[in-house]
Amino acid sequence: MMHQAAISLGITVRLLAEGPDVSAAQVIADVTVGDYTDPATVEAFATGCDVITFDHEHVPTTILHDLQSRGIAVRPGPDALVHAQDKAVMRARMEAIGAPNPTWRVCADADELRAFGDEIGWPIIAKTSRGGYDGKGVWKIEGPDGVDEPFTGMKQVSAGEQVVIVAEEFVPFARELSALVVRSPSGQAAAYPISESVQTGGICVETLTPAPGLSEPAAVAAQQLALRISHELGVVGMLAVELMERADGSVVVNELAMRPHNTGHWTIDAARTSQFENHIRAVLDLPLGEPDMRAPVAVMANVLGGDETDLTGALLHCFARDRELRAHLYGKEVKPGRKVGHVTTYGDDLEVVRRRAAHAAGYLMGDPNA
Ligand code: ADP
Repeated sequence: MMHQAAISLGITVRLLAEGPDVSAAQVIADVTVGDYTDPATVEAFATGCDVITFDHEHVPTTILHDLQSRGIAVRPGPDALVHAQDKAVMRARMEAIGAPNPTWRVCADADELRAFGDEIGWPIIAKTSRGGYDGKGVWKIEGPDGVDEPFTGMKQVSAGEQVVIVAEEFVPFARELSALVVRSPSGQAAAYPISESVQTGGICVETLTPAPGLSEPAAVAAQQLALRISHELGVVGMLAVELMERADGSVVVNELAMRPHNTGHWTIDAARTSQFENHIRAVLDLPLGEPDMRAPVAVMANVLGGDETDLTGALLHCFARDRELRAHLYGKEVKPGRKVGHVTTYGDDLEVVRRRAAHAAGYLMGDPNA
């Protein structure tokens, strides 16, 4: 999706892909298949590139520092990116800049985790500092008996990285919000409207924009928080600040992502400038585009792999039924629960727009009665 934006800007993209069949490798001409954790592979790949950016955060920062010292622009840079890689580093930094954190602590072993829970009250959340995604590497621990689980589980998640367990107070949040901002090296920044991210089993299934019922002052405060974080951390490109909103309207930061984010996929069709185009503009230090919406409400629904395997064929029904539906398929093999595409609808009435998206996504997942 970044490539689509780059084409219009006349930018040639070179891709380092982890396999020959990944989505981006299917459409980009200049592909190197290699391991992004191997310094020699990344350095050979980067030679001749004007600027390096990412569609995930996992390239080791030591490699990125080496690229920078060779004069290659890395955007976002490793000193910012580490806050999206490591939740312990992120929590410490949020605390230092006064951004809202849950009560948290790095725990070296099960005894320390038990002490944390006894002190602040159960349940608690334990997370691996690195390597988690879509709810993997996150455990809700109901009481002292469960404190061994994250220390056993972290071995599966971490693959030998420098990983610690971060304990957090369990935040009884009412919903999750996403604040997306983009910042250029010159310091220009833009904030997208705040989205609600509807999650099932740790996976985002739907976004609603603007977040329903969020007051104007609360939305502006969330945008300002995200802009401040991007400025303090020196982020270049897109920053997604995932927020947990309590029933009283207060928020805490859950995690940061420094790349175009799933909760911003609606912007391709329903914002004046998509997050992908603004990310590319930012890393090139071009003036940023307007982030505002093309319609009062927009809904994005993820297509998770289900019984339907011929997704393009299934579009016949979806497009015949809804001429304003927008669909994006990722060229991935359909596997149960895997994100294989998304649909976006927009219009005036949230209930109607939401139903249209749910029907199309459900149909593409193999449920004709969705
Ligand atoms: P991942 O890296 O898998 O996205 P997150 O840190 O976002 O991990 O956590 C996954 C989910 O766990 C969140 O979307 C949220 O629902 C829940 N969660 C995370 N931290 C807390 C917390 N402190 N209190 C309550 N729920 C939490």
